Amino acid sequence: MSLFHPTVALRKVTDISPALLRQLEIDAILLDVDNTLAPPTSKIPYEGVKEWIERIQASGVHIVICSNNYKKRIQPFAESLGLDCVSMSLKPLPFGFNRAKRKLREKPKSVLVVGDQIYTDVLGANLAGMRSILLEPRSEEHGFSIWLRRRMETGKRKKIRLLNGGNHHVSQGNQSH
Ligand SMILES: [Mg+2]
Repeated sequence: MSLFHPTVALRKVTDISPALLRQLEIDAILLDVDNTLAPPTSKIPYEGVKEWIERIQASGVHIVICSNNYKKRIQPFAESLGLDCVSMSLKPLPFGFNRAKRKLREKPKSVLVVGDQIYTDVLGANLAGMRSILLEPRSEEHGFSIWLRRRMETGKRKKIRLLNGGNHHVSQGNQSH
């Protein structure tokens, strides 16, 4: 399976249900921030995110934030949601994921990466042998580097949607742990 294919593709983070996580046997999530939990630079999460985090944690799954953005942006945001975090994580490289895993109270059996970018979140998860959920980008973004990455993603997202039968729901693409 391609290094660019997520385990599952969904529209938004709140579409991830405790039942899906049980099905995938996930006990920890490494969670992206920008365009996953909130618009880039915004301190206010998307609607339902706070409640979703509580629901997932109540189901016994641990959550650590793992973002490539700066500490100044990520730490206060994570604290406002009561979550531990790793900033400047250098996804798709494995260092940030390893730092995030060390923040979990128990050694996780099966870790899931959740984010909106193929070239950081999904590629990083596949390189680290972890599973991933790819979300649709939700907010307008500006700047050349993100424009380029989004352009590079276009064909791959189409293919992922085709694998999903034309919608955003569950594909069982990459089952490697
Ligand atoms: Mg993101």
